[in-house]
This record gives sequence, C-alpha cells and structure tokens, in this order.
Amino acid sequence: MKAVVIGGGIIGLSSAYYLLQEGWNVTVIDKTDLTDSCSYGNLGMIVPSHFVPLAAPGIVAQGIRWMFDSKSPFYVKPSLSGQLINWGLKFIKSANTQHVQQSGPHLTAINLLSKQLYESLSHQPGFDFSFEKKGIMMYFKSEKVGEEEIHMAEKAKQMGLEVDILNAAEAQQVETDIALDVLGAIHYKCDAHLYPNKLNHQLIQYLTLNGVQFLTGQPVTKITKKQNKIASVHVGAEAVDGDVFVFAAGSWMPSLLQLAGLQLPLMPGKGYSFTQSHSDKTLQVPAILCEARVAITPMNQQIRFGGTMEIGPINDKINMNRVKGIVESVPAYLPGLPVEMPKPSEVWYGFRPCSPDGLPYIGYGAKYDNLLYAGGHAMMGLSLGPATGHLIADLATGKKPIIDISAFNPSRFD
Ligand SMILES: Cc1cc2nc3c(=O)[nH]c(=O)nc-3n(C[C@H](O)[C@H](O)[C@H](O)COP(=O)(O)OP(=O)(O)OC[C@H]3O[C@@H](n4cnc5c(N)ncnc54)[C@H](O)[C@@H]3O)c2cc1C
Repeated sequence: MKAVVIGGGIIGLSSAYYLLQEGWNVTVIDKTDLTDSCSYGNLGMIVPSHFVPLAAPGIVAQGIRWMFDSKSPFYVKPSLSGQLINWGLKFIKSANTQHVQQSGPHLTAINLLSKQLYESLSHQPGFDFSFEKKGIMMYFKSEKVGEEEIHMAEKAKQMGLEVDILNAAEAQQVETDIALDVLGAIHYKCDAHLYPNKLNHQLIQYLTLNGVQFLTGQPVTKITKKQNKIASVHVGAEAVDGDVFVFAAGSWMPSLLQLAGLQLPLMPGKGYSFTQSHSDKTLQVPAILCEARVAITPMNQQIRFGGTMEIGPINDKINMNRVKGIVESVPAYLPGLPVEMPKPSEVWYGFRPCSPDGLPYIGYGAKYDNLLYAGGHAMMGLSLGPATGHLIADLATGKKPIIDISAFNPSRFD
C-alpha cells in the first residue's frame, strides 16, 4: 500500500516515519530542498505544559492593545482578506473559558504521548537530537501575571503534570549560573526540549535509508480526483498516485487543499528566532518570559531566542522592531544572560500554521475517503510531531487511534 505525504516539515516527516513502521511504501513531496521550514528554527520545546490553546479568554483584548506597539509579541496585520476575516471571527468565538476547559485534556494527552514517543525515538540507532528532560521555567515579573501563572500551575498539578511553583530565590537555585530578576517562576518539570535542526536531518536520513522516496524542489500544483478519492497529485510533469494522501503542508494547507476544492480556516503566524554563542555561564533550563512572550532554549552549545506572532499572509520581510522587542526583554528577566541585537541576516523566521481554535487538524475530512489532514499545530508543531505521525499511521492502517482525537476533527468548522 502506498502513502503520499505532502510536506516535509516535522509533521510530514513524523507521519512518514510511523507509516513506514506500519509497512507502508511512502513518498514525501516538498516544494523546498528540506533544509529549512517552520520545523527548523523553532525553540525545540516539548510542551505538555501548554494545555491552554492560543484562543483563550483575554487574548482578543490583549491583542488589540498590542497592535499599537511595534515591538509587541502579538500582531494581526489588518486586511480585508476573506481568509483572515473568516479566521478572526472563528478565533474570537473560540476564545472562551468553555473552549479552554474542553481543549485542555485533549492537548495534554497528545503532548504527553508525543513526549513519550520522542523519548523512545531518542534511543533508536541513528537518532541523537539532544533530547533533554529538564522541563521549562516560566518566569514572571508582575503580581498579576504571577497570580495567573500560579493558577495555571495548580490546574496543571490537578491534571497530573509535574510542576513546581517557585519564588525568586527558589528559581535562582534551579538556574544557578545566570542572575535572575523575576518575582517567581513555574518549573514545568513535565516538559522537555531538543535540537530541531538535528532531529529533522536525522529523520530524513533514516527515512531515506529505509526506502522512503523524496520528491523535493517542486510544489504540488494539481490534484486529480476519482469519485470520492484523491487519485494522484501532480509535481511538475509527474503524477504521483497513492492509496492514501497525507496533507502536512504547514501554513500552506489552505492553498494545497484548494487544489482539491476544499477550504480550511488556517492563518500563518510568523515568528522570529536567532541563535547566539554564549560565554561559560549559560542557561541550564529552557525559559519562557511570560509577560514578554519570549522563549529561550539552550541548544547545540548555543542559545536560541525567539518569539512574536504576526498573523498575516506569508511574506519574507523581517521586522527588526519585533526582533528588538525580543532582545530588549531578555535583560529584564535574565540580566546575567548576554544577548546581542542580531543582524537581519542572522534572523530566522517561520510561519506557525494556526487554526482559529488553537487545536490541530488530524484525521480524515468529510469529502475524500483517502485524504488525511495533519496540520494546524500553531506554536506546538514540534512538540506534537510524533504523536500526530503515530495517529496518522493508525488511521491510514485502519487501527483505532492511540488516543481520542475527536477534538482535532478537520471538519469541525464545516
Ligand atoms: C519562532 C518560533 C518558535 C517555535 N517554537 C516551538 C517550540 O518550541 N515547540 C513547538 O512545539 N513548536 C514551536 N514552534 C511551532 C513549530 O515550529 C510549528 O508548529 C511546526 O514547525 C509546523 O510544522 P509543519 O510540519 O506543520 O509545517 P512546516 O514545518 O512549515 O512544513 C510544511 C512543509 O510543507 C511544504 N509545502 C507546503 N505546500 C506545499 C506544496 N504545495 N507542495 C509541496 N510541499 C509543500 C513546505 O515547503 C514545508 O516544508 C515555533 C514556531 C516559531 C515560528
């Protein structure tokens, strides 16, 4: 049986990996040469702690305030685009307490599964992607945000996650080398991190060695249908047929699906990162600076800084003001951690594929019997890669999915 995966980011590669384990003959198609995508320059965090989707109460009002600050971490580019308006209305509708409460257990279950799968993958021959289980420190500076974070941490404990609530002195005992200037921190010991660049390269290497075919450098531009099935996808002059098709095209999902006459609410959420060398003293545990919404991860003997979420069309502009916002936030929390303003050429950017309710799309859609959706993972795509891949392989093979995926139904907005 032949599976065709469109998109070679972490979601497509993970799908290919688990399909291969199930005995499928797999082809991966990507329009790039697979050396960069959103799955490379991200912060490498594996986050069972992130059980609150982006669409949560308060985010709309906060987002409007941030829109007037050029260095802010969240921005929606105003536009009359139908895709953005449709997405925005669905986002506003989803940003409520009930949605957050319903989504929490589903996000935790898929994140915990993924972490477990990463751990076993890290023990497989040919894989060494610096998987570390040190957790993540969420630092806060204000009373208000501290109260919110402590409330979340209590909830996380109730959900069975391993979490410590720390005052400033206790936080300093965890992060011994770097001087902190914070009110407190939550240490989500349940989280982990890895080096995404290595992970992607090793996955490609493993898949290639094990017979997966890669067609790279050209996009899928046409889809041929036969009754209620996809028959083939076209890459240049070549028609690639298959028994099952996995659409894992990240922020390009809407344009790919359009070729099959389908629509999906999804917007790109642009983010920036830059990676710098450090002196002898370095961060031990990945950090999230809560008020600033900046993330910092030690990886590959360097430190990667990242953040911002610009909802808008795909573009290759680098907004150095937002990068400056990231740089300036660091000394306010971690005065002991050196950070320099990067040159534009040193800034990486990627597009998080954001669904309006902050939940991924995983499973069969309503129209085609052999089309599997694997996308919309927004800010947790790296984290959710293996679990998504496993679920896709379960579904393709006709097995009961390893966890309940009802919340991730791709047709939920139809
Ligand atoms: C600054 C930043 C920090 C982040 N940090 C984290 C983190 O710490 N933890 C975490 O879990 N997530 C993080 N993320 C999010 C994560 O990177 C994404 O969710 C994830 O990479 C999405 O993976 P994907 O495979 O769906 O998409 P992508 O990686 O974008 O891959 C999609 C692929 O599809 C291909 N494609 C698209 N259209 C076509 C077509 N028509 N034909 C052929 N190929 C096509 C593209 O070329 C691309 O290679 C971060 C993101 C950013 C921007």
